[in-house]
Amino acid sequence: MRTDYDLIILGGGCAGLSLAMRLAALGPRCPRTLIIEARPAYGNDRTWCFWGEPAAPLRHLVEQRWHALTIHTDGGQVRVDCSAMPYQRISAGAFYAEALTLIGRTAAITLRLGEALASNPRKAGGSWHMETRQGPVRAARVVDTRATATPRSGAATLWQSFYGHEIACSEDLFDPACVALMDFRHAAPQRIEFTYVLPLSARHALVEVTQFGPQPLGPSQLRAALERAIAGRTGGAACRVLRSEHGILPMGLHEQGAAADPTYVHAGIMQGAARPATGYAFQRIQRWAARCAERLGEGGLPLGHALDAALLRALDALFLSLLRARPDIAPALFLRLFEAVDSACLTRFLSDQGSLADCARIVAALPAGPFLRQLPVALVERAGRRRAASAS
Ligand SMILES: Cc1cc2nc3c(=O)[nH]c(=O)nc-3n(C[C@H](O)[C@H](O)[C@H](O)COP(=O)(O)OP(=O)(O)OC[C@H]3O[C@@H](n4cnc5c(N)ncnc54)[C@H](O)[C@@H]3O)c2cc1C
Repeated sequence: MRTDYDLIILGGGCAGLSLAMRLAALGPRCPRTLIIEARPAYGNDRTWCFWGEPAAPLRHLVEQRWHALTIHTDGGQVRVDCSAMPYQRISAGAFYAEALTLIGRTAAITLRLGEALASNPRKAGGSWHMETRQGPVRAARVVDTRATATPRSGAATLWQSFYGHEIACSEDLFDPACVALMDFRHAAPQRIEFTYVLPLSARHALVEVTQFGPQPLGPSQLRAALERAIAGRTGGAACRVLRSEHGILPMGLHEQGAAADPTYVHAGIMQGAARPATGYAFQRIQRWAARCAERLGEGGLPLGHALDAALLRALDALFLSLLRARPDIAPALFLRLFEAVDSACLTRFLSDQGSLADCARIVAALPAGPFLRQLPVALVERAGRRRAASAS
């Protein structure tokens, strides 16, 4: 068995497999790569949705596209036409199957499932050495996509916690043409909580309850709200739960693993993959994987996630600071955003493709008062985080 590699990828989830697929596409330039993944097998454990076309290698995996979405609040609702950048879905099951096929065809890449490190990687003689259950391995470069930190209060401005069931019902209950992106109706004002309904057909949908809050929440803390949300949408109709999914995504991470050694980089959801203001990460991971693979194919060092432009970071930080301070106004802010901003501009902004003019339109559409009052608080918070980061 080979023990010496050009690259070891720790964690074969979305980020690790996306990078591996890009490396496989390099052909003879593909570095000798080992992926170490803890799970023994892949299941259809999540649904990835995003705006706009995915990169060409994944386009055939898109199972559905929606051209309309709605936002509901107790004070009003809006239906948005997002034909300019349709909302699209790839199931994790299809993604993992594609990755396994491509990796299986690539002699240079080895995937070890059900594997874990017995000790932390250590550098000696220009290589990273690791002890696995199947013996020692080493590589010149490492991309670590394991979620090294557990979600905890204080580590991000907000946590996006969600829990959902994919349900099949006995009657037509859903509008297959339209995603209910955020339904805040009947939510308590002291927390930001909404229901998300992804209609897979008229009788089949993924219904999720999401909370943005300072504390990360597990399924047990969201179960009652999810049951209420499903009962509200299905009435008395008979429904079967086909599968469930739960996630906790950082919104405005306060710390990211610094690259102390450029031959060892961190990537993935807890390392800057998620857009702070939305938690969406799939498309950002794909863009990172393409850049990182290209660099590795040229014999260069691996790349971590690029920082967002300074203006976008500042806008996202102010938005999150305001949401955390004023959860009561969140539904009205989201409604205003989707009502007042042209949908093409908004979806570009949400999917990291907004121009300066898009940012300006979004700022102009939002009520200035709450943001101006929050600005000094957000600046103090930012300075505090910078001080803490430089002290650590
Ligand atoms: C249920 C769910 C739904 C989501 N939906 C969307 C969406 O619709 N749109 C969007 O843009 N984003 C979405 N996200 C956010 C993001 O796209 C995903 O979290 C994505 O999977 C992040 O990729 P990752 O590689 O960082 O983490 P993961 O995909 O979780 O991969 C990390 C991998 O590391 C492995 N691992 C962990 N510890 C070890 C260890 N010690 N040794 C070896 N391996 C280890 C894990 O088993 C896992 O396979 C969703 C997240 C979840 C959880």
